[in-house]
Amino acid sequence: KGGSGDDGGSRILVFVRLRPISRKEREAGARCCVKIVDGRDVYLTEFATENDYLRLKRLRGRHFTFDASFPDTATQLDVYSTTTAELVEAVLQGRNGSVFCYGATGAGKTYTMLGTIENPGVMVLAIKDLFSKIRQRSFDGNHVVHLSYLEVYNETVRDLLSPGRPLVLREDKQGIVAAGLTQYRAYSTDEVMALLQQGNLNRTTEPTRCNETSSRSHAILQVVIEYRVKDSSNNILNRVGKLSLIDLAGSERALATDQRTLRSLEGANINKSLLALSSCINALVEGKKHIPYRNSKLTQLLKDSLGGACNTVMIANISPSNLSFGETQNTLHWADRAKEI
Ligand code: ADP
Ligand code: MG
Repeated sequence: KGGSGDDGGSRILVFVRLRPISRKEREAGARCCVKIVDGRDVYLTEFATENDYLRLKRLRGRHFTFDASFPDTATQLDVYSTTTAELVEAVLQGRNGSVFCYGATGAGKTYTMLGTIENPGVMVLAIKDLFSKIRQRSFDGNHVVHLSYLEVYNETVRDLLSPGRPLVLREDKQGIVAAGLTQYRAYSTDEVMALLQQGNLNRTTEPTRCNETSSRSHAILQVVIEYRVKDSSNNILNRVGKLSLIDLAGSERALATDQRTLRSLEGANINKSLLALSSCINALVEGKKHIPYRNSKLTQLLKDSLGGACNTVMIANISPSNLSFGETQNTLHWADRAKEI
């Protein structure tokens, strides 16, 4: 494990969020196969798939522990406060932080990140908190907040705030940037939810189902905070902190937990960016010197938000349904592995 947040080292916190069972799942005869105990432990029960409940068998139980695990009754604010509030604090000290939601399609990633008008998610709550913390600062006048919201789909980067031609990634002094990406200057929270909802509608949709966001689309919201402070000898210092909030593509079949699975998946054109993220995390877990950021658009964009002097939060989203058992197990295995970074 890396150092704590104060010494410039990196650290990763891993959380699990269980969503409520849906009507569709209930109607399909789904049973709940996940149990969350004491806000940390996740118990997974594998049932036989026979519909006959009398023959339902408890085949094998597995148990995982995370920094915190959220039951299906957890609110958006519970999730925000526990997973991301500290990161916002760190970003206001000029550090970088990132929050990833991952899990199978339908597991609750977009709900957790974006949420709804009535129940805004981590993206909106983070910006709200950010503005309220800035207002509490005596030197709030000089804070500038910029938002950018982009998509990686099939290794193409698009601006979700100003849809148009794909963006080209360039390397400059600050690292890798998407040339021409909209930097929206935000002054308050009120405008942000509508902006993000609209941006989300600009995500690539599944060609076959016209209003459904493609399960292969990654959405990245980056919030950059700049301000000036005076040091003890009255020199003015510029501080920049960046918070990246990422709604990853559906992880079904793509979350390799070891090198062998990774290689077998590379042949099958699954999702280059998700595989590359797995590879980078594996390399970070193993303490490798070389982290293969260059292998995909997603990992290039997030180079300064993974490892390094950065705080990382992973939220693994899972469905309670036994019909999704395999995906849930895969997601939990991967989350378990990510803890070791
Ligand atoms: P994903 O983005 O992982 O594909 P979604 O976030 O779109 O999944 O969630 C699938 C469905 O489940 C949506 O209708 C969403 O509103 C609902 N949902 C997900 N998580 C929750 C939750 N914690 N509480 C209530 N509804 C949820
Ligand atoms: Mg989604």
